[in-house]
Amino acid sequence: MKLSQSFFNENLSYVTPSEIIEFLYCKRFIYYMKCLGISQNEEKRYKVQKGREIHEKKERENKDYLRKKLGAVHKEINVQLISEKYRIKGIVDEILTLEDGTMSPLDYKFAVYDERIFQTYLTQIVLYSLMIEEQFDKKVEKGYLVYCRNGNTVKEIEITEKEKNKVTDILIEYTEVINGIFPKATTSKARCIDCCYRNVCIK
Ligand code: SF4
Repeated sequence: MKLSQSFFNENLSYVTPSEIIEFLYCKRFIYYMKCLGISQNEEKRYKVQKGREIHEKKERENKDYLRKKLGAVHKEINVQLISEKYRIKGIVDEILTLEDGTMSPLDYKFAVYDERIFQTYLTQIVLYSLMIEEQFDKKVEKGYLVYCRNGNTVKEIEITEKEKNKVTDILIEYTEVINGIFPKATTSKARCIDCCYRNVCIK
């Protein structure tokens, strides 16, 4: 789908990477929450998990070893990002400036690396990349994920134009759903078992 900037300006209020991750988990979930305004009552569990993640991140913030290992000449921590063009906002754990002048987002994951990068993680890194390019007027060609529960394993991700286009397509679809298009249910029925919308969801 071809990107139209006026489409985003007219139809999308600011969306966060977390909301896009929920959208990828189940598009209909976002429809109930954002379009119909039915609250999800899951805040408590989310906060417990988030608290553990923040603790893990804080332990690493003052360490410089990662920046040196990746050949970065500068890093910024917990950077607030916003893109007027794509109507996205969020806070990235770190932004590295590399020796060649390009920039890279780096995100810590409270997870174990299991030989593949989840599509959700990839989408999140591409969203940060789009925001960094606009905000700092610098090219982003790669991003990094650090798996905290795996001895801080670092994985480099190539940020291609193809990946950026895929993410802008997701943003367009997200906008259509919050504007009232009823999406298909997730094909993974296991996700419905614990879902707070399972009693209202027509499948
Ligand atoms: S019940 Fe299943 S399909 Fe419906 S919103 Fe929840 S996860 Fe999505």
